[in-house]
Amino acid sequence: MILTGVRPPIPSLLSSNGHGNKLAVILLRTCLRRIPVTRINSLRSLSVFPTMEDLPATKLTYYDDMWKLLSAASFITHLKEEAREAVILDSTIFHPQGGGQPADHGVIANSEGDIKFIVDDVRLKNGVVFHYGSFNLLYEREVAFERGQQVHLSVDEKRRKLNARLHSAGHVMDACMRLVGLGHLEPAKGYHFPDGAFVEYKGTVTLNELQSKQKDLEKEANVMISNGGKVTASILPYKEALELCGGSLPDYIPKDSSPRIVQLGNNLGCPCGGTHVADMSEIGSMKISQIRMKKGIAKISYSIEL
Ligand SMILES: [Zn+2]
Repeated sequence: MILTGVRPPIPSLLSSNGHGNKLAVILLRTCLRRIPVTRINSLRSLSVFPTMEDLPATKLTYYDDMWKLLSAASFITHLKEEAREAVILDSTIFHPQGGGQPADHGVIANSEGDIKFIVDDVRLKNGVVFHYGSFNLLYEREVAFERGQQVHLSVDEKRRKLNARLHSAGHVMDACMRLVGLGHLEPAKGYHFPDGAFVEYKGTVTLNELQSKQKDLEKEANVMISNGGKVTASILPYKEALELCGGSLPDYIPKDSSPRIVQLGNNLGCPCGGTHVADMSEIGSMKISQIRMKKGIAKISYSIEL
């Protein structure tokens, strides 16, 4: 089946929690998710869904349990999107790329374990999670999963843990900005990838002023990490979220939404759609590697001990 005229996904901060409620998938202060506009000119499907809009929203299991790396889900459909294949499920523990955090990798398999779909990319589009990858070579597509069949999900633990540590380190650094007198700067973009993590800030500050705080920032971050503290994620009514975040939430979070708020230890909470360590101490140690300024944007780069 060839489908054309599929409306490209609109960059959105809204997603569904799988229960029909709209949730703000937010990204904090430090991790603004900006889903890129991807034009899907053709979508070949073996399924009964005539357009992408008809696909049911995926329940984001990692929203409620950030540390679940094994789960079961119900297979919905398998799509061919230009050169890529995607598996759609009713729920997922796979974190899609976004909010500055890379996608999870892993495996989706049948109960016998002989049919496997190797996941090498994951994206969230209009509330639907697309698990991209390929089937193992033992089977043709016709004998792959059937609609309603239970499949077993397994997330690559090593990759997830590194990404979670990097993401949490970005939040720790952001919390420490206040402690070194830079709390007036507003986070604009977070990039928590292993190849050069950074957070960009807007606001009035000179490069000299920023660089003079580099060592203090690194010291405060490492003190916070070594002291440790539980990390929690909760989906809260707007009013409660506002309170947990110190009375301020970004404008892009609708006031009638229930945002997901991540809180590290006793720090103020912040809206975030990502996955984190269970305790700040798991980050290990971090380094503020570079501070640069370009066109009024401050870019603070950091790394963690691998
Ligand atoms: Zn975040």
